[in-house]
Amino acid sequence: MNFKIGVLAGDGIGPEVMQSALRILKKATQNSDHTFEITEAAVGGAAIDLTGEALPADTLNLCEKSDAILFGSVGGPKWEHLPPTQQPERAALLPLRKHFELFANLRPAIIYPELKDASPLRSDLVENGLNILILRELTGDVYFGEPKGRRGSGPDEEAFDTMKYKRFEIERIARIAFESARGRKKIVHSIDKANVLTTMVLWREVVIEVHKNYPDVKLHHLYVDNASMQLIKNPAQFDVVLCPNLFGDILSDEASQITGSIGMLASASLGAPESKWGQPGYSFGLYEPSGGSAPDIAGQGIANPIAQILSAALMLRYSFKMEKEALQIEAAVKKVIAEGARTGDLLPTGSSGRALNTNQITDLVLNAL
Ligand code: NAD
Repeated sequence: MNFKIGVLAGDGIGPEVMQSALRILKKATQNSDHTFEITEAAVGGAAIDLTGEALPADTLNLCEKSDAILFGSVGGPKWEHLPPTQQPERAALLPLRKHFELFANLRPAIIYPELKDASPLRSDLVENGLNILILRELTGDVYFGEPKGRRGSGPDEEAFDTMKYKRFEIERIARIAFESARGRKKIVHSIDKANVLTTMVLWREVVIEVHKNYPDVKLHHLYVDNASMQLIKNPAQFDVVLCPNLFGDILSDEASQITGSIGMLASASLGAPESKWGQPGYSFGLYEPSGGSAPDIAGQGIANPIAQILSAALMLRYSFKMEKEALQIEAAVKKVIAEGARTGDLLPTGSSGRALNTNQITDLVLNAL
């Protein structure tokens, strides 16, 4: 196959860590039977500076012709004066998710045992490491349900959003949860609020129906309030956590915080295999670090590139079915961390340990590959 990758590095540390990911990608795929065509385009604040728009037509056009998008991060103080609808995240990332119907957001929250000191949780809770896959539905729920708006004035002025799910939307994300669990510990926790919300009653019913096709996977249901407590009380009980959009937004940030290192966390946003984007039989996807553009450290060459590198590994796994190469990248990162290499964000506050810069840690991962 010849796979086309649209590379949108964006703002702040985006271009710095993207260079690292592209170096790793090149080495990891050099012996593969596939060829890769990599094309870069402007997005976010950088694109606003160039063209006046956060998602210019040329960039969208490139993405439409690609099989996957490797995304950096967008935004920063320079563009904060713009009206909210023109700000980089809202005007670039959200339209990309909607345009390509990227309904499944996978965020692995991993604590490597060697990095347990970076977690804010008690060390006995995380000493054996953690590996939770938060799976968030990304194109439905209260964010997109109609009607939404404001009306009236005075004490009666009101605002409203509509929580809404269609059966097929729940079915397709539930299938991804059970399929993912099959390659892991075979446990799914489905999160809802079925005790109060009618939308969530349907969510639970449909998840139970889809589960009938996956009898080898254990299914548990948790109300979202309990789930938020369980994540910090006993995170090791979780394997795959299946969430509607709103609850997933909140729980995925909670899960990333308990790992203590946003610079390590990758994410994948996937469309349906039968969608019109990408090659038939392969899933079009957008892959990006969980963190933002980190303006406080941008331009210094010290950002942790691992989230971007692991995002490239997810792209090989989910969009190109290159599991072996994805595992090789993940193993190389693990080895480098186990050997003690750390960027500044991974060192405990006040530590006298030596912080490596972006290029140095990238070189180590390249050597380990
Ligand atoms: P942030 O994730 O950019 O930064 C939070 C903290 O984490 C900072 O101290 C930063 O230095 C650190 N950090 C993040 N990634 C790191 C890395 N790879 N290595 C080392 N340290 C890292 O979040 P923020 O400060 O809230 O947002 C900054 C900008 O990024 C804002 O404009 C925001 O809108 C944007 N943002 C973009 C995305 C995206 O593009 N998907 C996501 C979140 C925030």
